[in-house]
Amino acid sequence: MDEFELIRRFFSRHSDSPVVVTGVGDDGAVLRPPAERDLVTVIDTMVAGTHFPADMNARDVGYRIVAVNLSDIAAMGAEPRWMTLALTLVEADADWLDEFAGGLYEAAGEWGVVLAGGDTTKGEQLVVSIQMSGDLAPGTALYRSGAQAGDTIYVTGTLGDAAAGLGRLSEGPSGHYLARRFARPTARVRIGKALAGIAHAAIDLSDGLVADLSKVLEASRVGAELDVRHLPLSQELLDAVGREQALRHAMGGGDDYELCFAVPESLLPAEIASEVTAIGRISAEAGLVCRDGDSVVPFDDTGYRHF
Ligand code: ADP
Ligand code: MG
Repeated sequence: MDEFELIRRFFSRHSDSPVVVTGVGDDGAVLRPPAERDLVTVIDTMVAGTHFPADMNARDVGYRIVAVNLSDIAAMGAEPRWMTLALTLVEADADWLDEFAGGLYEAAGEWGVVLAGGDTTKGEQLVVSIQMSGDLAPGTALYRSGAQAGDTIYVTGTLGDAAAGLGRLSEGPSGHYLARRFARPTARVRIGKALAGIAHAAIDLSDGLVADLSKVLEASRVGAELDVRHLPLSQELLDAVGREQALRHAMGGGDDYELCFAVPESLLPAEIASEVTAIGRISAEAGLVCRDGDSVVPFDDTGYRHF
C-alpha cells in the first residue's frame, strides 16, 4: 500500500459540507467559510509514548486527537467546521489505519467537522497532528483574559477522571469508565457555543485545574477562591481512589478536556445550567486561594498537597 492508496482508502470520505469546496485530493483544500464570521484555528499534536500510551487502541487514538482539538475550538466558543491531519506512521498497517480512521471520523461526525486534507509521512515514531478551524459571530470569541472580580467560576463535567484512567487503558476501549474518560474526552462544543459573547473568560482543562485556571487568572490580572468541596467528582473516581486522591487528580491531573469559565452568575445561560458546576469566585486580589470548608489548603501547580 503506497501513500496515495492509503489516503484514498482511509482518509477520503465524502462530505457535503458547503464550507468545503474541494477537500482531499488536490494540492490544497478550498474552503468557503460563512460570510461575516470570525475564524478560529487551533492545532494539537499527540506523540505516541508521550501524550498517550504507544499501544493505545487505534480507534481511541483517532477519536482522541479530534476530541482534543474540538475542546480548544469549544474553549474559544466557536462552531467547528473543518480539519487537516498530519500523520507520521512507523508502518502502514491497514488494520490499524482502518480503526484509527474509524475513530477519527466518528468524533468528527458528532460535530459535522470535515477532514479536508492532510499529509502522510513515515517516521520513527507515531505522531498524529490535527489542525482544526471553526467560526463564530464577530467579536464573540472567549478569551482567557476577561475574568472580572465577582464572576462565578464554573466547570463542565467531572474532574480528575482522565488522570486516574490513564493507568487503566489496558482494560480496553469498552473498559473502565475512567479509562474511557482519558481515551475519549467529551468535547464541550455545545456549551462553548452557548457561552460565546457571554462568558468573561474560558479555557479548556488539558494540564489540570490549578495550572489552567492560573493561566486565566494571570491573563485577566485577577485572583480566585475555590472550595474543593464543590469540585465535581465522579462516583467512579471516588470509588476507585477515595476522596483525597480524587481531589489531587481533580486539582492537578490533566487530560480532562472539560471547560472552565468565568461569568457573572446572573448571565449563565439557562440551557447549560444543569451541565456545569460552580466551584468558586474570581477575586480582585491576585493569587489562587483554595479552601476545604473553613481551612485553607496548600497546593502547587502539580496538584493538591494537603493530604
Ligand atoms: P502534495 O504532494 O501535493 O503535498 P499529497 O500527496 O501529500 O499532496 O496529498 C494528496 C492529497 O491527500 C492532498 O489533498 C492532501 O491534503 C491529502 N492528504 C494527504 N495525507 C492525508 C491524510 N493523512 N489525511 C487526509 N488527507 C490527506
Ligand atoms: Mg502538491
